[in-house]
This record gives sequence, C-alpha cells and structure tokens, in this order.
Amino acid sequence: MRARRLSARWVLPIEGPALEHGALLIGADGRIVAVGPEAAVPRPAEAVVEDFGDALLLPGLINTHTHLELTALDGATPEPEFSAWIRRVRELKAARAPEAFLAAARRGLADCWSAGVTTIADTGDSGAVIEALAEAGGSGIAYQEVFGPHPDQRDASLRGLQQAVARLGRFAGGRVRIGVSPHAPYTVSGSLYAATAAWAREAGLPIAVHLAESPAESALLAGGTGAFADAWRGRGIPMPAPLGHSPVAWLERHDVLSERTLCIHVVQAAPADVQRLVRAHAAVAHCPMSNRAHGHGQAPLAALLGAGLRVGLGTDSIMSVGTLDLLAEARAARALAGLDAAQALALCTRDAARALGLEHEIGVLAPGLWGDCAVIRPSTSPGAVRGAAGKDMSAEDRVLASGPRDVLATFVGGRDVHRTSSPL
Ligand SMILES: [Zn+2]
Repeated sequence: MRARRLSARWVLPIEGPALEHGALLIGADGRIVAVGPEAAVPRPAEAVVEDFGDALLLPGLINTHTHLELTALDGATPEPEFSAWIRRVRELKAARAPEAFLAAARRGLADCWSAGVTTIADTGDSGAVIEALAEAGGSGIAYQEVFGPHPDQRDASLRGLQQAVARLGRFAGGRVRIGVSPHAPYTVSGSLYAATAAWAREAGLPIAVHLAESPAESALLAGGTGAFADAWRGRGIPMPAPLGHSPVAWLERHDVLSERTLCIHVVQAAPADVQRLVRAHAAVAHCPMSNRAHGHGQAPLAALLGAGLRVGLGTDSIMSVGTLDLLAEARAARALAGLDAAQALALCTRDAARALGLEHEIGVLAPGLWGDCAVIRPSTSPGAVRGAAGKDMSAEDRVLASGPRDVLATFVGGRDVHRTSSPL
C-alpha cells in the first residue's frame, strides 16, 4: 500500500480542537504519521494525495454494540413485549440457513463502512461476523455468545463455547479479535456466568454481556416474577438463587465484572449499581435508540459518565433500531445527558475505543494509531451551517447533524473501503 495524504476544510482529531484546513498523513503501514494544519503535514512524493474540499474528516466511528449476523432481518419482529420479541428473534435465527449468516455479516460490515464505522464490537453465535471481518481485513471484536438458563446446562454450554472459540480462533489475529458473550441474565444461569467468566480470564478473552436492559430482567432476579420468570417456569427452569439481586449485583456475585467486561445497555441501574461497575472498572455500551425502541426506559448516562466509567455508543441490531446510525445515537446520548457536541462525538470515537480497551490503536487521529477515518459531506442547508441560534455551527455540530448518507469516504488503516456513489 502507498502512503496516503488526506486533507479537508475541517479535520477533527477528537483529542484537541478541530483544525480548519487540516491534513492527515497515513504511512504505507496503515498507521498515522502526522495530523495537523495543512502547512504542517508533510507531503511525501510517493503519497497518494487527496483533498476533500469543504468536507469534515474525523476518526472512523466505533460501534461498541451490534449484531451484524442479523443484517436484513429488520422489520421482521413486530412483537411489542420484550421477552416475546427475544423469542421471535431466536425463531428467525433458527430458520436461517448457515450460509445466510455469512452473507448477512458481509453486507452488515459493508453497511458499517459506508456509514463511516471502522471498528465494531459484535455479539452473535453464528461465527459469521469474525469470518467476515477476517476476509475483508476489518477491525473489531467478535464476542461469541453462549446460552444456558438451566444450571444443568452449564457444562455442555461451556464446552460448546470453548469449541466454538477454538474453531473461530483461526479468524482472529491482527485487527480482528475474539471474545465471549454469556448472553444475558435471563438466558444464562448464575453458574454458567461464573464458569464462563473464570474460563475467559484464564484464556485472556474479553467479555460482553447484555445487562440491566429490561424491567422484566430485573424482576426475574429480584423476585422471580415477570415475563422471563414465567417463561422459565414454563420450561422447568429453577429461579435464580438466591433472589433479591439487581442485574449488576448478580454479575458481581458471579465474578463476571472486570476491566475486560463490556456491559451492554445498563438501563436498570441504581447508584449502588453504578458504584459496582466503577469498583470493577467495567465498561458500558450505551444504546439509547434500542433502549427507546423497546421501551426499556432511559439509561442513567449522566451518572455513568459522572462516575468516570468508560462508555461508548452502540446501535444494537437492525432488528431493534431499523437503520444503524451511530451519529443518531450520539444525538440521542447528547440530549439524554446534556452533553456538548464534542462530548457526544467522543462517545463514538475516543471514548468508545477506551470502552473496548483499544485506545492505543484507534479512536483519535494521532501519530502511531491506525489510519482509520471517515470523510463527511458538508451540509449546505442553512440550518446545518448557521444552527438554530443563527451562529456558525462548530465542526463537531456539523458532523453530528449528518448521517450515513453523508459519508463520502471511509478508510481502514489507510485502505479505501468506501466511496459514496451519490454526487456531491
Ligand atoms: Zn444486543
């Protein structure tokens, strides 16, 4: 690959202020060599040089939670009640041919790139996403799911997970990582949680868990009531023991929470739960639009951030939210926690990298990090340039006002992985 020098009216390194008339130089090894004002960035003779005019150039976006194996199943689940919806998702997955998952994952990854997303943290059980990442030279963590609500399923479920990780491990390497995901407290027994977490620690694998998402999950653990509890009873599954825990406390009890644990959703969390996450140095994937779509309520985002937790944004699956639009998630997070534009944008770049433990690789434009970036079309609508107050909008505000269709180009490690097909 040749070195690549990109320039634009606005370059947003994210760490530090936006640069008007900035440039980015990516070396032949895919790593950033220099970023700064146009005149300060070298112009090597061998570099491919490209100027994007009035556009905005920023680090590639990072989606800390998605399910790309479900790509193209959007609109297939009208169930309004969450436990029924989950059941429906599993039925649809069971009806899908194995090769369809790989096709879905490939399309999902291409959709990410075309929306400016260059790193994904994905959970699934088909193994298709890690294969799609590896064959396409992508960047991400694929967390292999494990299920087993009955304590008697523990050993077989763990064995199945270990076999899957051994089989899929051949796709890991370089920028493609593998992790494990004991799915959620309403699909995984306490003893399977403990066993999976112990093995993950031993094997050095990161963990992702859907946690404290719905009121029904809390009701199951607190008192053995609600829709999940009813479903468990119907299947002869014993209630969690002892009852009386919040979801976060339940995972703390089973030694699942650590600095390598990504807690997805974290809506039903009291101040004591936030403190539990702080003590464990756990990270959070905040999915505001999915939480809203399922009627789970609002996550205590301001409290999570105020406590100093590492928080990144996730879209969740296309079956929950329709279109995967990380900048729309950033707008929702901004409104929820009263953030400024730079803070909201950091949640899907710098802070998301921290949540995944990848801050030394991605998340900001800085020398030594991967040359992952997205180039966004400058909006010409007066509202998007002047803002509601009539003042010139900041570069961060203008990025936040855009969407997947405004992404002109995306680069992963300096490699050109997307160009818009629509005219400027
Ligand atoms: Zn999810």
